[in-house]
Amino acid sequence: MTPENHSCAQAGGLSVCVFCGARSGRNPAWMAAAESLGHRIARAGWRLVYGAGDVGLMGAAATAARQAGGRTLGVIPAHLVGRERRGRIPADCIVTDNMHERKKVMFMNSDAIVVLPGGAGSLDEFFEVLTWRQIGLHEKPIFLLNVAGYWDPLIGLIDHVIEEGFADPSLRGFVTMSDNVPALAATLATLQPPLPSGTGREHGKHEGQTFRGERQKGWQGQ
Ligand code: AMP
Repeated sequence: MTPENHSCAQAGGLSVCVFCGARSGRNPAWMAAAESLGHRIARAGWRLVYGAGDVGLMGAAATAARQAGGRTLGVIPAHLVGRERRGRIPADCIVTDNMHERKKVMFMNSDAIVVLPGGAGSLDEFFEVLTWRQIGLHEKPIFLLNVAGYWDPLIGLIDHVIEEGFADPSLRGFVTMSDNVPALAATLATLQPPLPSGTGREHGKHEGQTFRGERQKGWQGQ
């Protein structure tokens, strides 16, 4: 399936992009948070957009969402299928040509971004959407799920960057922290649903345009 022919916004409702580790990490609280978030996304009638792997926190969130009857959209580059998927590729997954396309397709098909504990990949994904926000390419809310203080050093780093004059204080305001899944889900529930389907979010290629698509207009969160 290609990004161009996958019209996934028809289902409606909030689409939540979850960036998280392809590993489980040491603290069982992180796996528990991933499962809890997947479950809550499904129970709320939202859609989970994720990296399509069935490993680590990523796999746990998606499995929990599916088991709770939720909708998912996985996006994985072809060269990672062997590494991040043990099972077959589900029908609700898009296979992209490369990592950049993956990130963009995940982003374009989401209304909000949540970053769970993870490694360099999750950091890359976080900074990409944060810097897109910083330069005004979008207004989608970005949440850090700071379970057990996992992201404290990252917030410290962002504060340091601001204090040392390398970013405006507004940078900090682009990130909303939640230290538990119920609080995060409650905040997500306050976001206004996006515009009806067919307004452009499902577009996979936006060369030469900003990411400020039609679906942005309905936002009242953040
Ligand atoms: P990690 O947090 O390192 O476990 O990685 C989490 C996810 O991010 C995995 O699915 C990685 O394939 C993905 N990832 C790693 N680097 C990148 C990148 N440059 N662009 C998009 N995804 C990435």
